Amino acid sequence: MSGRIDTNGTVIAAHGRHYLVQAGDAKLQCVTRGKKSDVAVGDIVRLKQTSPDQGVIEAINERRTLLYRSDQYKSKLLAANVTQLFIVVATEPGYSDDLVSRALVAAEAAGIKTHLVLNKIDITDSLAKTRERLSLYTGLDYPVHEVSARTMPEKTCAILNPLLKGHSTILIGQSGMGKSSLINLLVPDAELATREISAALDSGKHTTTFTRLFMLDEETSIIDSPGFQEFGLYHLTEGMLERAFREFRPHLGSCKFYNCHHLNEPGCAVLAAVDAGAISPMRHALYQQLVHESSQKLY
Ligand code: GDP
Ligand code: ZN
Repeated sequence: MSGRIDTNGTVIAAHGRHYLVQAGDAKLQCVTRGKKSDVAVGDIVRLKQTSPDQGVIEAINERRTLLYRSDQYKSKLLAANVTQLFIVVATEPGYSDDLVSRALVAAEAAGIKTHLVLNKIDITDSLAKTRERLSLYTGLDYPVHEVSARTMPEKTCAILNPLLKGHSTILIGQSGMGKSSLINLLVPDAELATREISAALDSGKHTTTFTRLFMLDEETSIIDSPGFQEFGLYHLTEGMLERAFREFRPHLGSCKFYNCHHLNEPGCAVLAAVDAGAISPMRHALYQQLVHESSQKLY
């Protein structure tokens, strides 16, 4: 056989318009045809292999899910085909409820199940307070798993591995929560693989600034997404937002006005639930902020 070979692969890292695609045992450095740049980590792509370690992406297979974030000017693909999101939080340093809830909303809008992972439960001084803060999310039926990557590595793996099996899981967390520690526990040779990936993408020292996928077995993968400080959701419409807040759902349709925005309308069932203590004021304030962001988008 000479010349170019058609094959399928999984995008395991992206850096600018350069992609690294795992095709069987080979990792191929790929570009897209033309100016196309809507490829995401996790995408299954059809490509033409042009050399033992290079290829051209020809097409993206239909996606099961697609996770985005966005600012006022554009939306950015975070990962494709993810089946669940793990949000890593810790006892110390404190996490931001705003960021956790934004991630939850993004996942709800994309149809992705979310788990919270509470790391560093060995820091017992802050454990009770953190559990109390997290009761907001357990109350919304988001599972919370208590682990300690540093002091209980085996127990942590015993808790998380069965949840990961058969899924494509994206981990996100603010810096300092212990996400890297968890990845290193859950992914054998994660650091080596990351060095390989960044060498192949020629991104030099930017090793942790890009999203990367680790294949654990045929049907299990973990995506490590760099620490997030901002999680813009300008791309979500009001209709998507009201449904992405789980606790709003039982009240939708009960407002006085059928086109209620749940902001300050009389007879709003969502606002009544906030007043009655059934919906957290923090979550409603975030909804308000996200509706505002949605109206500010320029694309
Ligand atoms: P990342 O920024 O989220 O990737 O966090 P790292 O994995 O780099 O961890 C941040 C700090 O928390 C490091 O000093 C870790 O050693 C520490 N750390 C990670 N897991 C635990 C844990 O379970 N308990 C405690 N006490 N410290 C931890
Ligand atoms: Zn309403």
